[in-house]
This record gives sequence, C-alpha cells and structure tokens, in this order.
Amino acid sequence: MKPLVSLVLIGLSISSFASVKIQEELYLPSQRPEVVKELIDAGTIEIDHVTSEGFEVYGPHGVAKYLDSKNIVFFDMKAIRKHSLSGYPSSAQIAEKMIAAAAKYPKIMKLINIGKSVKGKDLLVMKISDNVQAEEIEPEFKYISSMHGDEITGRELTVKLIEEIGQKYGSDQEITELVDNTEIYIMPSMNPDGSDMKQRGNANYTDLNRNFPDMTRDTESTTAGRQIEVQNIMKFQATRQFSLSANFHGGTIVANYPWDSKYDVHPLDSFVKELSLGYSELNPEMKSSTEFPGGITNGAAWYVVKGGMQDWSYVWHNDLQITVELSHQKWPDYSEIPNFYKNNRDSMVYFMKEVHRGAGFKTLRPNTSGIVEITQNAPVSKKMGSFAFKGSEFYKVMPEGDYTFKISEKNRSPRTISVRVEKDLIQPNGNFITLD
Ligand SMILES: [Zn+2]
Repeated sequence: MKPLVSLVLIGLSISSFASVKIQEELYLPSQRPEVVKELIDAGTIEIDHVTSEGFEVYGPHGVAKYLDSKNIVFFDMKAIRKHSLSGYPSSAQIAEKMIAAAAKYPKIMKLINIGKSVKGKDLLVMKISDNVQAEEIEPEFKYISSMHGDEITGRELTVKLIEEIGQKYGSDQEITELVDNTEIYIMPSMNPDGSDMKQRGNANYTDLNRNFPDMTRDTESTTAGRQIEVQNIMKFQATRQFSLSANFHGGTIVANYPWDSKYDVHPLDSFVKELSLGYSELNPEMKSSTEFPGGITNGAAWYVVKGGMQDWSYVWHNDLQITVELSHQKWPDYSEIPNFYKNNRDSMVYFMKEVHRGAGFKTLRPNTSGIVEITQNAPVSKKMGSFAFKGSEFYKVMPEGDYTFKISEKNRSPRTISVRVEKDLIQPNGNFITLD
C-alpha cells in the first residue's frame, strides 16, 4: 500500500485547478478505468482516449511502479514512441515553414506571434484573409493543433493546409471565396516545447488541455496561475471575435463535440452534432469508425475533461469549438502524413466554410460593447440566450433560421435587428449588419 499512499499525497498537494504532473505516459490495454479509479479520484493521474481496447494514463513519477505493484499490465508510451520518431520537422523548422509561407503569400498571410512557450519559443498563428493587414468585418475562424505536444499529426496537416491555401488562392474558386470573405487563424503548434520533447505536457510537464478555466469550477476566466501557453491563448482570444473553431489531437479518430466538462446538453447540441458529422462525413476513415458511430462523439459521454480549451472557448467567448482526433497513433510514421492530409483536407475546408452559417453586426462607433439577446423566430420560436459583444463587433454561428438580436449598449437605448442565417451561403459582407 505504501506507493499508493505517497501517490495520493502528491495528488492532494496539487494546485486548485488540479494540474497533474505528467512525467510518466502509460497505456493500459484491455482494462477499464475503474482499475485506477482511486488515483483518478485523488487527482494523481488523468486518463485519456478511453476505448474498448484500453486507455492512456498520465501522471507523476511513481505511477508505473504503483501499477506494477498491483500487477496491472501497462506499456510505456514514451519508450514505444522512441522507435518511430524520425522524419518530422522540429518546432524551429515548423516556424521556418510558417515564416516562409507568410513571405511567399504576403497578400493573404500574416504571421502573428502571440507570445512565448515556457522555453521561450514563439507561439505562432497565421492569419489568412484578403486584405490581411486590415481588420475587416468578416467572420473569424480558427484552428489550433498539438496542444498535446506528442499528438503531432495535426501540426503537419495544418501547415500543409496553410501551404495549400497559399498555392490555390486566386485559381481555386472555393479557396479564393473562403479567403476573401473570412478571417482565418491557424496555429499548428500550441505546445512547441512538448513537441520537441515528444511528450504530452509542456516543458513544466503540465497538460495544457486541463489548464483552462472550467465552467464547473471557475466563475471567471482569469489567467493567473496558468501555464504560459494557456495564458497566451487566452489573451489572444480576448482580442478577437472567433465564432467557430476546432482543435486537433491524436490517439484515435473522431470528432468530439461539447460539452466535455459536464453531461448537460449543449445549447446548440443538434447543430454542433451536424457540424461534427459534416467533418466526419468527408473523412472516409472517421466516417467508418467502428468505435464511434458516424465518427463523432459527445465529449463527456466519452470521458469527462475538466479545464479543456473546447468548453472554455464557448462559455467565455461564444466561440463554438470541436476537438478533432486525427490519427490512431499520436505520432504516426512520417510517411503516413500525406494520407492523413488526403483524408482530412476536404473536412478541414468544409469546417472553415461553416463559419458563414451565422450572422452578426458591426457598429460604426469604435469600441462599443454590450449584450446581445438572441431569439430565434423561425423555423421554431426559441430563446437562444444572451451574449456579450466587444470591439464594436458581434457574430454568432447558428443553425439556419430567422432571428432577432436585441442589442443593449452602454448609454444607449436597446435596439433590435432581424437577421437570417442560411446554409452554405458565403456572403461578401459576411452576413454582418452595419449599425451607427
Ligand atoms: Zn490530445
């Protein structure tokens, strides 16, 4: 019993948002999470990617020793990964590729540095749009990949996507129309230290996807005490008006929709399911999943994640986000990347276009802020809730229908506008209404 006692003590001494130190990365085959329930409950370990085949366990030094003492079979994922790591670019080389793309396509690409990682690496986001240097009134979309440093497939795919957009802009109608009417932000590597160390956590061995504010335990979205990569994402998001996004992971193949942190039904449940199915349907391997019907899953129904980015982005920023798991192997053989790109390319383009399923407004007076109360009038009459807006701009991704926005600003009597959301319609004005 001794190892358990010491592990539990580690668990109990951790900080208020329960960040588990990830120094050991293990895979437990053919077992259910109940076998390590005590460690999960004590906050000593976290588990991920639960399937009928097994699940992953992350925790501090001592977990392997403890499992051994309990005769629980496990594999060391880091040891397995060491055999198949070659061929991939380093984080520095990924940064070089992004710098090169921004230099090659300056009309539509602008590289943004949103801050540093623990080890001082630049956290780079590519903005892609026509008139890219300007702030335009267009729906804002984002992709973020590889916040788990060892889930590398998405980093490669998002870089390829950036390059393809650059090459095809001006000649491919679908890409050109998308770029001309959208502000797209793509971040291939949210955790460059982790990717270079070929591990899940950042350089402080912390899981960034458990480190965000969580609606089930936090009342405010504050950066204090969080990992620097998470803080930088939070500050960046606060400066933008993203309304649709996805973050890429690996370890299985599925599109995961909110909520992750609780079992309640998301207010846009059937809509976000439809968007996730849309992603899956264009990806033959995801669509034909035997583990997940249709290649999609609700987050909490799969396993509960607290402190994830997906729920945080909707709760505090009205940015509807899904989590896409791209490959069964977190770090597949590098030669397989072109095939993963082939399987995901159309899905990735489709999902970006879906940001146009929405409506918004822009006020001409600078820096106004307030509250928007949204009511759906057709096809059904329904209250959608109240949402904050800032920076004179508001946009929300929603299912097709007719809506009323009641806009309340400081020092101004409320006003009401009517908007219509249509499916598969990219509008030159992004479906924004201009107000005085
Ligand atoms: Zn992940």
